[in-house]
Amino acid sequence: MPDQSSSGSCHRFFNQSIAAMKLNYLAFAVPLFLFFIGWEYLYTKRKGKNFFQYAESVANINVGIAERLLDTMTTGLFFFFFQYIHKHFALFDIKPTIFTWVTLFLLTDLVWYWYHRLAHEINSFWAVHVVHHQSEDFNYTVSARITLFQAVVRGLFWSVLPLIGFPPLMTSVLLLVHGMYPFFIHTRTLGKWGWLEHVLVTPSHHALHHASNPEYLDKNYGDVLIIWDKIFGTFVKEKDGVAIAYGLTTPLRSYSFLWQHFHFWLEMYMNFRRAKGFKARWKVIFGKPDDLDPRYRMVLERKFLRNRQPAAAPTTAIRQYVTGQTAASLVLLFIILLFEHYLTGWQLFLFSAFVIISLVNSGAILDQRRWIFYLEFSRALLVLFAFAAFYPNNYTYTGIIIAISLLLWYFRSIRRYYLSLLYSS
Ligand SMILES: [Zn+2]
Ligand SMILES: [Zn+2]
Repeated sequence: MPDQSSSGSCHRFFNQSIAAMKLNYLAFAVPLFLFFIGWEYLYTKRKGKNFFQYAESVANINVGIAERLLDTMTTGLFFFFFQYIHKHFALFDIKPTIFTWVTLFLLTDLVWYWYHRLAHEINSFWAVHVVHHQSEDFNYTVSARITLFQAVVRGLFWSVLPLIGFPPLMTSVLLLVHGMYPFFIHTRTLGKWGWLEHVLVTPSHHALHHASNPEYLDKNYGDVLIIWDKIFGTFVKEKDGVAIAYGLTTPLRSYSFLWQHFHFWLEMYMNFRRAKGFKARWKVIFGKPDDLDPRYRMVLERKFLRNRQPAAAPTTAIRQYVTGQTAASLVLLFIILLFEHYLTGWQLFLFSAFVIISLVNSGAILDQRRWIFYLEFSRALLVLFAFAAFYPNNYTYTGIIIAISLLLWYFRSIRRYYLSLLYSS
């Protein structure tokens, strides 16, 4: 018969240990997010609608993984930044009451409207927001398509709230709740919302914001309330007979993680270098995206993408490998977020580097680049390096030296085998 008292105390000890753990429960947003995507995918498939393209979905989720991962390092910084502003520069001493919570909500939504509008109208801000608009699909995966750079610019806009005098904790709580809403409006499954269409930003409004049709360009910037668009003259309704085309006016034609993030920076850089005089350079940085010379985009595409033709349809091997990498990155992201209080800076760096290399890798594989083998090689080195860091003993070092020697010795044959396995259908 088992020892009841010892198993009971063991159980108690286990429960207490769990209770004492400082887990970050916001990590559960990851599986919740995947649940909604899964539901939307199955629901639309059952209705016979094809709202998900494989490579688009992977690219969207991968951008989101990087943002969530790197955001763990900046969210805390912004909280301290808000605290600093509030302590030294707050204009009013605002206490939390129902009235101030409602005011804060309205102001947050108004600040969002202007942040978002300026993100479309000023090149330096568009450079960070453009990534959100690259997807040619419109589904829940698009809501993940936010970059860390965008989160930072948005954070700078939010700093007006503690400057007015809203306490940093109040501001952060409201931003968290406010930040969840846009997830639900990136879908074509929820239809129209009746009378709420007059008050809220609904999926049908936001779908038009993601459209590249001239009728819908630069409209419906709101986040929760649609009233700001109506007040400032940027509201648009769906027009009969106009089929919505999602994405950018000039599509990217690449799933490269790096190209998605940096193509517009490069365009700005080229325009800036060729611009003559202060006024022209000012226009590159603070002007509208239309002010840039479109020819430089083509020059850059020739240089970095080599061919402007999209890569052939992904082979089964590509799909399996890329899906596996995205799934592994999501699992790692969940673990990193959940246990973030227990990870040392060094561990966080190694895990993050592994995930980021995997994301770059997936994008390059979808573009069917051959240089990815070198990336694979560097990722393998990173794993070996991590082993050495976690298990520093002579056996590990010997094993690593043997592994690296074998990799280098058979480099060419492994490369040939790897590329033929992946790219030959
Ligand atoms: Zn936008
Ligand atoms: Zn959006």
